[in-house]
Amino acid sequence: MDINVGDILEMKKPHPCKCKTFLVLRVGMDFKLQCENCKHQFMISRKRAEKNIKNVISQKEDQTEDQTEVQTEVQTQDQTEDLIEN
Ligand SMILES: [Zn+2]
Repeated sequence: MDINVGDILEMKKPHPCKCKTFLVLRVGMDFKLQCENCKHQFMISRKRAEKNIKNVISQKEDQTEDQTEVQTEVQTQDQTEDLIEN
């Protein structure tokens, strides 16, 4: 099973918070996972994790979804100041 950092694992057994998807923070002998819902982090042995995995949602590297906040500010146009001189 090919699992990389940044992948999302869908587990058979949900976290106590009822969330079933976990983000992979570290791979190796043990996995470090983070619950997608409550952000709880924990270590789990590779064997145990692989037994529990239902689905791997691998994240591709094209994560160029920069959330550009479009600020719709109404720009006040140059106010022509009427200089009325008496
Ligand atoms: Zn959780």
